[in-house]
Amino acid sequence: MARPHPFRILKTVAIPFLALLAPGPVLSQHTHAPSRAIEFPDVPGYETLVCDLHIHSVFSDGSVWPSIRVEEAIRDGLDCIATTEHLEYQPRKADIPHPDRNRSFEVAKGALRGRDLIVVNGSEITRSMPPGHANAVFVSDANRLLADDPIDSFEEAGRQQAFVFWNHPNWDAQKKDGIASVWPMHRKLIDDGLLHGIEVVNDLTFSEEALQIALDNDLAILGNSDIHDLVDWQFDIPAGGHRPVTLIFASERSEAGILEALRARRTAAWFRNQLIGRPREVLPIVRASAVVTAAKYRADTVILEVTLENRSDAPFLLLNESPYSFHRDADLVVLEPHSTYVLEVKTVTRVETLELPMRVLNVVTAPGENPVVSFPVVVQP
Ligand code: ZN
Repeated sequence: MARPHPFRILKTVAIPFLALLAPGPVLSQHTHAPSRAIEFPDVPGYETLVCDLHIHSVFSDGSVWPSIRVEEAIRDGLDCIATTEHLEYQPRKADIPHPDRNRSFEVAKGALRGRDLIVVNGSEITRSMPPGHANAVFVSDANRLLADDPIDSFEEAGRQQAFVFWNHPNWDAQKKDGIASVWPMHRKLIDDGLLHGIEVVNDLTFSEEALQIALDNDLAILGNSDIHDLVDWQFDIPAGGHRPVTLIFASERSEAGILEALRARRTAAWFRNQLIGRPREVLPIVRASAVVTAAKYRADTVILEVTLENRSDAPFLLLNESPYSFHRDADLVVLEPHSTYVLEVKTVTRVETLELPMRVLNVVTAPGENPVVSFPVVVQP
């Protein structure tokens, strides 16, 4: 029973919207102390792994030694990073000569010192359009990707069984209009099985057009930091920001598990408090994150107090799509990260169970589309 709703799709980022909606202390909302570690629960059948597959160091045009990338990743609670130096663009070479394109990966691995972070070897194939920039990750030897013709680099990545994705197809240095579009060379790379994913999120940008390209071509959806300086500065982490990451839903927390999940396109992007992905991936993560933990009628009323718990970093923006109205809220409810919230549902008559369908405005499944998630409620006697 759909009722008309005043809110249109959340086209822009959630942060200003949230600031608008948060009026000082929030009633009956319990929030834990914020942690900078990026946290999402596992989903049925898969572990949710937090990954950043696009980072730079002084071994190409980044500003830090690879060990700093490892320390940042551990602070951010990441499960996996890929070292992805530019293959062809080496502006530090006069100061830091290095003939070996695997060196950044080796230095990062060496900096782990037993810590539980997966570091994957990769390279950024760095060309003008087309094809633009692409990351090959899970390469066995980055040096062999160096070639005159970019197609030779993609073919070598294919021979090494690497996973290859198109970087920032919306990059305004290469696309003045910021609109990602498929060129004949990309078409051929996709058709030849040499391009498997696309960055829908890169650094500070989200591309609706890249999301549509992913959906149209069965490409994995990626969100990565492309960090060159420090993640704390770039993503304002001390003020509560987070780096963009790719959530990877893997059968096991291992290199093989991550590669299998990437090939199966089991990914979503987490970017500025929004989750972007196919319904197959984002609906389970919403259901695992936002859970009804209690439901009880208040005294002798027919006002049902439904406790929602949020076990994730995402502040869910929930728009009521049920036939009921709420006693304390308008149709838009904000479920803050790692918190509980009591929703007061006016059920008119006493019921034993009900479904509460809510449109999740900060989850994007296609350009202009936000999914409806139905929360099953079982009333306690
Ligand atoms: Zn890059």
